[in-house]
Amino acid sequence: MSNLARFLNTVDGQPRESYSGRWIASLDPFTGKAWAEVPQCGADDAAAAVEAAHRAFTRGPWATLTATARGKLLRRLADLIARDAEKLAETEVRDNGKLLAEMAAQLRYVPEWFHYFGGLADKIEGGVIPSDKADMFTYTRREPLGVVVAITPWNSPLLLLTWKLAPALAAGNTVVIKPSEFTSCSTLALMDLVKEAGFPDGVVNTVTGYGAEVGAALVEHPLVAKVAFTGGDATGAAVYAQAARHIKHVTLELGGKSPNIIFDDANMDDAVKGAISGIFAASGQTCIAGSRLLVQRSVYEEVSQRVVAVAATARLGNPMERTTQVGPITTQPQRDKVLGFIDIAKGEGARCLLGGGTPKDPALAGGWFVEPTIFGDVLNTMRIAREEVFGPVLSIIPFEDEDEAVEIANDTIFGLASGVWTKDMRRAFKMAERIRSGTVWVNTYRAVSFLAPFGGFKKSGIGRESGQAAIDEYLQTKCVWINLAEGIPDPFIIR
Ligand code: NDP
Repeated sequence: MSNLARFLNTVDGQPRESYSGRWIASLDPFTGKAWAEVPQCGADDAAAAVEAAHRAFTRGPWATLTATARGKLLRRLADLIARDAEKLAETEVRDNGKLLAEMAAQLRYVPEWFHYFGGLADKIEGGVIPSDKADMFTYTRREPLGVVVAITPWNSPLLLLTWKLAPALAAGNTVVIKPSEFTSCSTLALMDLVKEAGFPDGVVNTVTGYGAEVGAALVEHPLVAKVAFTGGDATGAAVYAQAARHIKHVTLELGGKSPNIIFDDANMDDAVKGAISGIFAASGQTCIAGSRLLVQRSVYEEVSQRVVAVAATARLGNPMERTTQVGPITTQPQRDKVLGFIDIAKGEGARCLLGGGTPKDPALAGGWFVEPTIFGDVLNTMRIAREEVFGPVLSIIPFEDEDEAVEIANDTIFGLASGVWTKDMRRAFKMAERIRSGTVWVNTYRAVSFLAPFGGFKKSGIGRESGQAAIDEYLQTKCVWINLAEGIPDPFIIR
């Protein structure tokens, strides 16, 4: 037995290793060394978790719990997460290398989703339908879907899980969670709080392991009604195709190539800060990264120089230290992918204005770091402007006027988010209307809330998370017809 910390799955309320007895090491991105282990599950473990979730959905206390009682459980879970936020954040940082400052703030905010959806649980209402037929009473019920599989990525494991778990439970579903194999520990730690909150056994289950093995087995399972997925577009498309074969419900959040647009009338201090935080927060590993900085040509040189000057001051370091501003990349394959994109950009003729490699500081040698990197004179046709890099790499692209800004902004397969920096409110409203993305920020960037629907246009995804729209993704409508008249005159023509 290894001396690493071990985190177990929870299936049917019980702690579980995998049937095979195998483990996956969880690596610390700052040291590159293993710090914990999680069970390496297979299709048999996946099936056991789905069956437990299905049992909990169809019988047992959850199936008959009132919506008000469900809401109370969610709110109790919110309070427990708030209590343990620091501890959960530290676990996430060991796993994904993001800044403790950011993860702790994120974990303190996560309870709001459970409070919000806990409050919504008993406000899910059907309706009475006006009838065009005499003596007929027609009404609708809003019902849960059944077993929901939540597949989550490594960049913000608990936040992105919460966006699925809170509405799924509020609507009355049961859940099987498949976290990324790279960052499973905080999800497994959360399960202790789910138990402490008093959720009945089997309502929330976890299965850790490799996506192609255990993830695919979950999506394939006939008792699964819905898959809620966040990750890359290639895996998202595979999950969508697999779910389609069984006509399952799907929501997909698949990242983007978001334009962050600076007009020459913007408050330049704010716009430069927005550009920096848009791309370098979380070392660029966010679906909403403002990876294409579109700058009006009249201020292009000035903005480029100022963004480079600020980015050059970034303090790279141990993500656990509060003074660190840029941490490592979460996984070694992702670090290699980011470095590969930097080479591609150089080969395409983009001008490297900053960074472009790994840092030379020996104190960072064990971690998977990439220097904050900025390319100027990028054409929107280059791969660096078209594909999601998911790292601290910014492409600066010039434009002449509003029309050209819109054309470049929308010339992408993605449509998750965008930013507009201007003092002209007419322009702000017009741009918000013309840009094809699920979120538009004006004179800010990265704002998200439990109250605000979030999701993608085009290849950035299907469905919405957060806000009232999110609960609809976990419900289906049943229409009930009650004939109040007696006597059916003709058995061959029933109305
Ligand atoms: P993936 O999309 O492959 O991973 C996301 C989740 O899907 C993980 O839990 C993964 O498990 C799981 N998974 C993988 N294959 C399958 C499958 N066949 N069936 C079901 N589930 C599966 O992301 P990667 O880690 O490969 O990252 C690739 C790129 O995706 C990144 O470079 C980035 O561009 C993008 N990305 C976008 C995110 C976003 O927030 N929208 C988040 C993360 C990545 P496992 O990790 O165990 O393989």
